[in-house]
Order: sequence, then structure tokens, then C-alpha cells
Amino acid sequence: MDARLLDILVCPICKGPLEYDKNAQELICNPDKLAYPIRDGIPIMWADQARDLNAQPSNVNP
Ligand SMILES: [Zn+2]
Repeated sequence: MDARLLDILVCPICKGPLEYDKNAQELICNPDKLAYPIRDGIPIMWADQARDLNAQPSNVNP
């Protein structure tokens, strides 16, 4: 994904910056604990398409 695109993308819920997860091909909003999928290089910036990071155990923040 184009890094410049990431600069202009913000979370549609909190308008905060997003973190690009290259391996998962997701854009992460840390405050909302949501992961927006990237499909065919296009970020899907809809809250109803986002994955809830609280819904499953994570070892990122023990
Ligand atoms: Zn957010």
C-alpha cells in the first residue's frame, strides 16, 4: 500500500491516526481497538467491516 495514502487516512470513528499492519493487511486504530481490512490494496474504512481487536485474546499487550 502507498505510504502516502496512510498519511491521509484516519479512523472514521475517532478521526485518529491509523497503524498499518503490513503482515495482516489491516489498518489498526489503537484507541478503538479496531482493525480495518485492506482488500486489493484498498482500505475498507467502514466501522461495520472492521475487526474488533477486543473480541479475541491478544499477546501484544499482556
Ligand atoms: Zn478510532
